[in-house]
Amino acid sequence: MTKVRFAPSPTGRIHIGNARTAFFNWLFAKKRLGEFVLRFDDTDLERSKEEYAQAIEVDLAWLGIRPDLVVRQSQRFALYDAAAQKLKAAGRLYPCYETADELDRRRKRQIARGQPPVYDRAALNLTPDERAQLEASGRRPHWRFKLEDRTMHWDDLVRGASHIESGSLSDPVLIREDETYLYTLPSVVDDIDLGITHVIRGEDHVTNTAVQIQLFETLAGAGHAPVFGHHNLLTAASGEGLSKRSGALSIGGLRDAGIEPLAVAALAVLTGSSDSVHPVASLDELGAVFDLSHVSRNAARFDEAELAALSARTLHALSFEDMRERLAHFDIAGAKAEPFWLAVRGNLSQLREVLDWWRVVEGEITCVIEDADYCAQALALLPDEVFDEKSWSRWTQAIKEKTGRKGKALFHPLRLALTGRDQGPELAALLPLIGRATAMARLSALSA
Ligand code: GLU
Repeated sequence: MTKVRFAPSPTGRIHIGNARTAFFNWLFAKKRLGEFVLRFDDTDLERSKEEYAQAIEVDLAWLGIRPDLVVRQSQRFALYDAAAQKLKAAGRLYPCYETADELDRRRKRQIARGQPPVYDRAALNLTPDERAQLEASGRRPHWRFKLEDRTMHWDDLVRGASHIESGSLSDPVLIREDETYLYTLPSVVDDIDLGITHVIRGEDHVTNTAVQIQLFETLAGAGHAPVFGHHNLLTAASGEGLSKRSGALSIGGLRDAGIEPLAVAALAVLTGSSDSVHPVASLDELGAVFDLSHVSRNAARFDEAELAALSARTLHALSFEDMRERLAHFDIAGAKAEPFWLAVRGNLSQLREVLDWWRVVEGEITCVIEDADYCAQALALLPDEVFDEKSWSRWTQAIKEKTGRKGKALFHPLRLALTGRDQGPELAALLPLIGRATAMARLSALSA
């Protein structure tokens, strides 16, 4: 069974770039009837916060992503300790004592000599005595994973056949001097333990993949690495990368700004792919278009202005069934709710504007009487019927014949009187919702 994971560190709110990774995983899993694991990479106990973890779950739920399983790395240290022991026993995890300064100087020397700045494995040559002396002098080791010098190949779901020479990489530090774990080892241990079949993540992790495949092989046996896919990263229109600090682009910020979740989904998934960005009516519809092999290798530029327009277009196409519950939250329910939604949706840029239009059909508004005599004439011609979608044309036809008015002079004063606004949804659809009694009151009360 397909099993994927989305693995944010709860050190801030997620943004639309993180949502891209989340959706790629979610849609991939759902298409294959697989499972989606939400894994909080919270081994950094200082920076990780429970409130962020909770906010991330809320943000994902708002986007329509409900994990099949949620795990926290902070509760799984025993597994990482066991894996570290296994690596030590296999001679693949070795202690190093260099300080950051020493490493930095060494790197600069290598660069000056035109050599690649790769860790020289000096620590592997330390004798037990030298190690003991270093420890006696107060140095504590950090631990590096000894890479095998091989070409690591994988067939990337996005980038196709890929390879990295692991000899060109420094042996990565897995455990810091203070015995805390960096991201690499816990990630692989969890992927093995949870049976993750596909790792889909940003292309900033491509180099990690060479290291991680070797870790998978050492810990779980050859051939046990999952399938990898590395997607391009979403950048701001300026080309700048998105960060957790750019609050406006956080999922919570977009929600507060009235952006539709399906618009966030469509933009997050379709930007930077061979599919054009277009509104979708459901995540299933998005899933049907989505294909990792359509994702481009160039940066995916995201345009916030495009998002607002896409959000409005998304709203315009949503059916009443899609909206019934959300409208009920605004107390928009009952027999009028469906025709109301169909009448106003095309005029909305944000859902919250339904409240203004609901007031126009159900509540009190301040009407604007531009021409009292004309309104009185129109009132006298109001059809004597239960209004339907034809009533408006019958009525305005009669007014036209009687007054000789046409175009804006005919319609505009009526719109102002009936809705209090000079533009909005088709009056043919609004008039039956406003009803005869209210229409009369609006045309007469103020014109009297
Ligand atoms: N916590 C890592 C990140 O957010 C996860 C990377 C991965 O998917 O392996 O970048």
